[in-house]
Amino acid sequence: MSVICTRCGSTNVICMAMVNPNGNVFEYYPDEAFEYGYCRGCDFDEVHAELTDTDKVQQEIDILYRSFIDSYETELDYADCRIVYKDDGTDLEVKIALTADGKAAAMNERVFYHCDGISGLKSLAEYGDKDFIMVQCYQFDNWAGDNTPKFLHDYD
Ligand SMILES: [Zn+2]
Repeated sequence: MSVICTRCGSTNVICMAMVNPNGNVFEYYPDEAFEYGYCRGCDFDEVHAELTDTDKVQQEIDILYRSFIDSYETELDYADCRIVYKDDGTDLEVKIALTADGKAAAMNERVFYHCDGISGLKSLAEYGDKDFIMVQCYQFDNWAGDNTPKFLHDYD
């Protein structure tokens, strides 16, 4: 597990946790503990910054991907995700296209970013050279939205 600062990528971070005070034994992270985290690796002294567990986000993508493939016998076109901008920490709920084909182009105004398949999507959960980092992936879908494959060809 590697929990990093969404601003600078540092692992020098702190957040709230529930502990058993008798021996300081870690129990669990409360809801939104990472959203209200602090970073000591940013340029300033200990700034508020959202934290993200990059391994966990990638594992969740794998789980969602497998369950989509098992449930629908159709291709998946995009992922509903939440991203955080590195510079000011604001977040956005966005659609990230998994392909750069004609369908994605037709849906361009609804697409925040185009990546290359599942591995490309997973790489967005890591601290890279983009001005944002993806911190949550909610679900996959195709552009038809109702998982009717024939409808997909309307965008060809
Ligand atoms: Zn930082």
